[in-house]
Amino acid sequence: MGWEAWSYTIVLFIVGALFGSFFNVVGLRVPKGISVVAPRSSCGNCGRQLNAIDLLPILGWFIRRGICHSCSTPISPVYLVGELAGGLLFASLPFLVSTDELWIAYPLVSVLLILTVSDLAYMLLPNKIIYPAMLLFTGLRLFIHPLPLWHYAIAFVLGGGILISVSLVATWMGKPAMGFGDIRLMALVGLVMGIKLVLLCIFLSALLGSVIGLALIASGKMDRRSPLPYGPFIAVAGLVCFCFGDPLMTWYMGLMTWQ
Ligand SMILES: [Zn+2]
Repeated sequence: MGWEAWSYTIVLFIVGALFGSFFNVVGLRVPKGISVVAPRSSCGNCGRQLNAIDLLPILGWFIRRGICHSCSTPISPVYLVGELAGGLLFASLPFLVSTDELWIAYPLVSVLLILTVSDLAYMLLPNKIIYPAMLLFTGLRLFIHPLPLWHYAIAFVLGGGILISVSLVATWMGKPAMGFGDIRLMALVGLVMGIKLVLLCIFLSALLGSVIGLALIASGKMDRRSPLPYGPFIAVAGLVCFCFGDPLMTWYMGLMTWQ
């Protein structure tokens, strides 16, 4: 990589970290109906308004060593993780997806980061984010669609439909069902990625959810009945599918025919 590519990547990382910091605010405020611009963020414990150093993405957390400057209450590492994820994803997308798909990739990463924060904080995937996102991606897909348009339309219905069916079966069996937010988010994944990848995303997110759920139960961090937000698993699986879905499918099909 030449110095020019390096400097682009570094700038994208910084921009991504700044956006990541904003997405944290959006994800935490929109579900509560608070404006994303005012009031300025403050410490949840002592109410001290955050200044420029606190608000520095990533660095601020390290300078303050993860605690509030005036009352020493620990600051949730979720902020740091959101900023790091924003930086890393923004910087790596140009290496992972085609130039055309970057128009889809950046809004997609943004929406998924906001929804992950909100689901982790409140177990809620707000419609105020999901519905505008559906409109936005419908518009974008009209112009940029490597697959025929009907693929995305069918995948939208399929993604939502499969999760509704799973949810109905779970309710019938007396198990905790998925929320409507999860169903809408999977429909959105279908709208963005098409039939093959939404099926892969359903499979991967379920796998990821079971593995992490079992690990949390085994380590005693969670008991069998405590609810686990499913949105973050859909978000992670969705990103994996969007960036690596096609090579993953080819690899998997290769394994099947090889046997
Ligand atoms: Zn404080």
